[in-house]
Amino acid sequence: MFSKYVDNISKYIKNEIKNKHSVNLNKEFFLINDIFGLLENSDLRTMAKKVIKNNKKYFGNNIFLYAPLYISNYCINGCKYCGFKALNKIDRRKLNYDEIEKELIYLKNTGIDHILILTGEDPINSDFEYLNYTIIMAKKYFKEISIETYSLSQKEYEILINSGLIGVTLYQETYDKENYKKYHLFGPKSDYYKRLETIEYAIKAGVREINIGALLGLSNPDYEIIMLAHHMNYLLKEYPEVEYSISFPRIKNAYNVKNEFFTIKDKRLIHYILALKLIFPRIHINISTRENKEFRNAVLGFATKMSVASATNVGGYTLYKNSTKQFETDDNRTFEEFFDYIKKRGYYPTTVNWF
Ligand code: SF4
Repeated sequence: MFSKYVDNISKYIKNEIKNKHSVNLNKEFFLINDIFGLLENSDLRTMAKKVIKNNKKYFGNNIFLYAPLYISNYCINGCKYCGFKALNKIDRRKLNYDEIEKELIYLKNTGIDHILILTGEDPINSDFEYLNYTIIMAKKYFKEISIETYSLSQKEYEILINSGLIGVTLYQETYDKENYKKYHLFGPKSDYYKRLETIEYAIKAGVREINIGALLGLSNPDYEIIMLAHHMNYLLKEYPEVEYSISFPRIKNAYNVKNEFFTIKDKRLIHYILALKLIFPRIHINISTRENKEFRNAVLGFATKMSVASATNVGGYTLYKNSTKQFETDDNRTFEEFFDYIKKRGYYPTTVNWF
């Protein structure tokens, strides 16, 4: 398990990050320790050319699209950065199965074939049976079903896979143990190691796609990117059969969240994407609609997985359009508008990854 190594790796990175590094951009393959030099190299143009070439080789012109589906915003956790945190007095909702079906049909009619089902953590209002039955329902409409939920056991992931689950998104949020404690005040998610180990339970259960990430802003962002790189490096070595993505969402405004976070400029975020793509050319970079239209247009082609026309509130597509959002989205193009834009750029909007 990566949790066995994480403390030593973290210590090493915190020391090493203070030193100067360099890297030769002319070489074809980059190794994990090149991450320091890549983050210090300012020649983004050369990096970008290499990344575009690699992406064409491994993914063709495909941009893989998905849409989120929020089914419940009940949550017993105290993540300080989230609009759904337990202490927030918001309109709590849990979709019943008829309502879920309505949202599924709406999403199906947009042409999307990959959905990401999201729920907060609550043993009564988003229990395992509810999640499992939602996947069984979604399977009737979608080829590819992923979840972004609370930590489950290997056995539970096995049951969900049997019901149609393909992928799991689970962000460590921050790899910095001290800051993890500071931002996860209470609830089951406040266990740093359990969170880290859950990814491997999902893999051992047999999920085909894994998306890991850090919520950029909770700690020194350079440190988070280097930790992410080490985590990915470990997973690729231990479990090469899985298809991986990396996300690094920047924290957004949310209801009753005080902005006390690190800021990451657009250029630096692009630098992170390029550095990781040079070390891991076969993994996807996933950029959601929390980023704005201009930024998403700029990284199209570096990023190969993108969400589209997303509602980040429960029932947000057809039922409760004004309910509280988990966070604000910034690219509000419709499905058609985004599909058209991708085609105009010479790429192909692919609505499913597995057949
Ligand atoms: S991030 Fe997830 S677990 Fe944390 S408060 Fe929000 S919904 Fe709950």
